[in-house]
Amino acid sequence: MEKNNPEEQLSTVARELPPSAIREFFDIVYSTPDCISLGVGEPDFITPWTISDSGIYAIKDGCTHYTPNRGLPELCQLISEYIENKLCVSYNPETQVLVTMGVSQGLDLTLRSIINPGDEVIIFEPCYVSYAANIRLVHGVPVIIPTLPEDSFRIDTEKLRKSVTRRTKAILLNHPANPTGAVIDRQTIQEIARIAIENNLIVITDEIYSEIVFDEDYYSIIKIPEMKQRTVYLNGFSKSHAMTGWRLGYIAGPEYIVETMLKIHQYTALCAPSISQYAAVEAMKRGGKEVKKMLSEYTKRRNFITGRFNEIGLPCTIPGGAFYVFPDISSSGMDGHEFALELLRTSGVAVVPGSAFGKSSGRHIRCSFATSMDSLKEAMKRIESFMKSIGD
Ligand code: PLP
Repeated sequence: MEKNNPEEQLSTVARELPPSAIREFFDIVYSTPDCISLGVGEPDFITPWTISDSGIYAIKDGCTHYTPNRGLPELCQLISEYIENKLCVSYNPETQVLVTMGVSQGLDLTLRSIINPGDEVIIFEPCYVSYAANIRLVHGVPVIIPTLPEDSFRIDTEKLRKSVTRRTKAILLNHPANPTGAVIDRQTIQEIARIAIENNLIVITDEIYSEIVFDEDYYSIIKIPEMKQRTVYLNGFSKSHAMTGWRLGYIAGPEYIVETMLKIHQYTALCAPSISQYAAVEAMKRGGKEVKKMLSEYTKRRNFITGRFNEIGLPCTIPGGAFYVFPDISSSGMDGHEFALELLRTSGVAVVPGSAFGKSSGRHIRCSFATSMDSLKEAMKRIESFMKSIGD
């Protein structure tokens, strides 16, 4: 009987992966007219035109071939300079940098390079929806440590220390974080580094939102000298330069890991898209002018949306970075999933249930403020009416 079930042909890991809870929601959103979406995790800005133009020129000039596997040497050089300027850490562009198809591929390559079946990777929930799935896909085991709203989603390093076992291979960090916007403070980073060094662990640090930091002191773990040799730094152009569709990111790390990643990349992807790489050269050369303009707009929106949520009676921590807020909606009497469904059905506002980012986040929703101020104002008006209608 079982033999006739076509699903038996699939790999067990792939078959058992749950579908992304975000996707399920967006299927409903697309079929809801006049819907305002606070659900998407990408900038509403269009890629700055000089960057797009560089991509167009690359096509016109016939730069449409494979590039070196590692990426265009000029781009690797600029990435290395960017990291050095921003974080005062130097990476050799010829051996310690790799251009990838987004942070997504950077993470996949990192995990494929270091994980043996059964190895544990510690992640902190709520977190980006892909982390646990990516770890499982390489036959690793995600070990989840919850972070709590009452602690401003701070990492409890005592819990971290206790979660390390013989099988622990790596700790995966993300800050500013999706979905909470939390930025890890310097002292916590130092404590995490200490635990990693004592237990000989690798740290993977996803810093894709590091250009969107508001008023906090931002500190990367790669700045700690002993950590450079055991940390893989992931970043990309999706969020900072509004380039999600160009699919371009990069990693920097110790040569022995990067060279292994390069081998896998050679066999599975050859190289990141050439046109996007030429556009990224321009993005790097412009030195973040547009990024600053976007940041100033995000700051206004963040202040507005957190103010409104707290006014309405849905407590909302002020995010230190990224473009998400993660309010607690338990005063509505619903869980995040019910709240999101009802809000969408009755008021045409799409938000993402907190449970999509981890089991401990059931009473939260994630709202992205990477959308225009007018849409945000209208969405908050609708959420206020929705809350009043529940109270009536
Ligand atoms: N990491 C985090 C924390 C994200 O939020 C996202 C996308 O939302 C990604 C990685 C994926 O980034 P990319 O577009 O570079 O693949």
